[in-house]
Amino acid sequence: MLAAVPRAFAATTYFLVTVDTETSSGCGPQGCFPDGIEDRILGEHEGRRLGAPLIMDMLEQRGMRGNFFVNAYIGSVYPADDIKRFVQEMLERGHDVQFHAHPEFRCFKTCPKEDLACRARCIKEDSFIVGNTYENQLKILKEGADAIREWTGGRPLLAYRGGGYVADENTLKALRALDVPIDMSLSGPEHPLARRLPLNKAAELEGMLEIPLYDFTENLFGHKRNKHLDVETTSWPEQRAIIEEGIAHDVRVIVLMMHSFSFCEATRGCPAQASIDRFAKLLDYLKARPEVKVVTVSALWDAYRKDPTILTGGSGHVPETGYWLTLRRSAERFDEGWSNRLFLLGNLFACLAILGVAVRLLLRTRR
Ligand SMILES: [Zn+2]
Repeated sequence: MLAAVPRAFAATTYFLVTVDTETSSGCGPQGCFPDGIEDRILGEHEGRRLGAPLIMDMLEQRGMRGNFFVNAYIGSVYPADDIKRFVQEMLERGHDVQFHAHPEFRCFKTCPKEDLACRARCIKEDSFIVGNTYENQLKILKEGADAIREWTGGRPLLAYRGGGYVADENTLKALRALDVPIDMSLSGPEHPLARRLPLNKAAELEGMLEIPLYDFTENLFGHKRNKHLDVETTSWPEQRAIIEEGIAHDVRVIVLMMHSFSFCEATRGCPAQASIDRFAKLLDYLKARPEVKVVTVSALWDAYRKDPTILTGGSGHVPETGYWLTLRRSAERFDEGWSNRLFLLGNLFACLAILGVAVRLLLRTRR
């Protein structure tokens, strides 16, 4: 483990709030019926806008800006004017719009919504990324890059994130050919790009800059699993602990993952007030840290081109969380997912069992 850098000499830690901005394909036994832009992207609910607009409001209230990775293939479903309207709002408010890819949306162009067999064939034969040839990836990604550039009015397109984080070496080569210089798909040690790139540290490969998601290890008495910093799956104490640990170990760039529907979605509730409160706490904390800069990809890319060491220096330290932080998350997020419930109840029963054994032993020794 690397030694902690004394805070007075620590370099800046750049913090990127990244928001995958997308609708759902809405697939079920009857076919695929995508929801509207007003649902998972704008989060319109009882007169409020709880999706991307609320995320922008919360950032702007603190003088910060975010990065919206828009699914580049939604033009197969929604009118271009409707897409341009929300993209232009993001740009006018000073946020970044970058490239997110769920290429299965291309199948809405060729398959009727009810025809699941056609869709399955379309995805298997054409509309996928990892495992596909360089030539096919280039064709698919060019369509996406062209769409984003059209919606943004030709702004420089800088960064890409695969749907479900998928990307491989051919993806990087294709992005490079399309003048998209940054990939932000690398997530965890099992990712295809992790064979050649470090976690938690920006690095260059195939002429591309990779900025990975912020990975951490959850260690429960030797049973380890990797997760990443995500508004939806980490508690506030976990977020604070892993960010503190990264700063102390000179991690230069930390990426927060969220979705346009993080605060409003059927399974999560709408509004998901606990998630909104957690995000507010995180932003207040970041604002109070002088060594942290919350930036857009565009601003970071400008700074990096002037001095690459702002990112390539530092460490790729992977923080570790343990039993107490996991237990606290399970308590804080008891109503958000079965794994939290299982962990908390499992621990409760284990405690009761240990207590029961202890009482029996005590009674037996007294007799
Ligand atoms: Zn996505």
